[in-house]
Amino acid sequence: MLLGGIEAGGTKFVCAVGYGDGIILKRIEIPTTVPEETFEKVIGFFKEFELNAIGIGSFGPIDVNQESPTYGYITTTPKKAWDNFPFVQTIKEEFNVPIGFNTDVNAAALAESKLGAAKGLDSCLYITVGTGIGAGAIVQGKLLQGFSHPEMGHILVRRHPNDHYKGNCPYHQDCLEGLAAGPAIEERWNIKGEELQERQEVWDLEGFYLAQALMQYVLILSPKKIILGGGVMKQKQIFSYIYKYIQQLLNNYIVYPELSTSINDYIVPPGLKENAGIVGALLLAKQAYQEKKQAYKNLI
Ligand code: ADP
Ligand code: ZN
Repeated sequence: MLLGGIEAGGTKFVCAVGYGDGIILKRIEIPTTVPEETFEKVIGFFKEFELNAIGIGSFGPIDVNQESPTYGYITTTPKKAWDNFPFVQTIKEEFNVPIGFNTDVNAAALAESKLGAAKGLDSCLYITVGTGIGAGAIVQGKLLQGFSHPEMGHILVRRHPNDHYKGNCPYHQDCLEGLAAGPAIEERWNIKGEELQERQEVWDLEGFYLAQALMQYVLILSPKKIILGGGVMKQKQIFSYIYKYIQQLLNNYIVYPELSTSINDYIVPPGLKENAGIVGALLLAKQAYQEKKQAYKNLI
């Protein structure tokens, strides 16, 4: 079964053709400009193949409610050209195959649970810390979804008393994303995160905020593995600050090896490295194919 995957990001689209076991045959990267231009290239790439299904992991917010009239849309993005963009419908016009559609972080969470750091577990949490902060959760073997997909990057955190940066979330100002995503780091310290490697106070503060978020996710979801990816997490020293602060915050209220002796095997980088998102998109394609097949079987 040949699958197509699209990891749609704010700066680039990664498209790949591959299989349900995560093997990628061919991949390309396309800059995210305006939909007409980006999609001409996406469609051109997939037209060379006889695909059985396509999976999309997209930046959001997106409409994932299959009952909704705007299912398959990117909804309220600040990226004007993509505001209310019918993503699934645009692909459907060109390819008459089952289409899976979810957030980029949900796709990555799915991939990590099936083939990556959480393989064999029935729950995990995947968090990206990049241009924004987002998370996807697998709960009892399935992606967590309510009336919409979760938006865990926008939770509120306590400020560090010495941090006077105001925050940059256009909706909430000093929510987690407003204080701890890549652009917030850059604005607070006036240097890009990539160039702040040696400044331990930067990563200590980053760990301080991320640990608060992780504490809340642990208390609410009790995931069996927490996976942290995204550009900012390339600063591997953040992990040790997270371990320190989450243990301080939890204060032995819940006592498990995951939160003490095995913490460095509990809060980890992605097993699939940079490929979590695109492999997840292939898995969304596989799921969509299987669901269509099942629906057809139920009919006959
Ligand atoms: P996106 O969120 O668009 O998918 P990334 O996950 O690469 O892309 O996140 C980009 C953000 O991560 C930028 O704000 C950038 O400054 C930051 N970033 C990228 N690499 C590093 C690094 N090595 N150290 C710290 N910050 C980084
Ligand atoms: Zn916010």
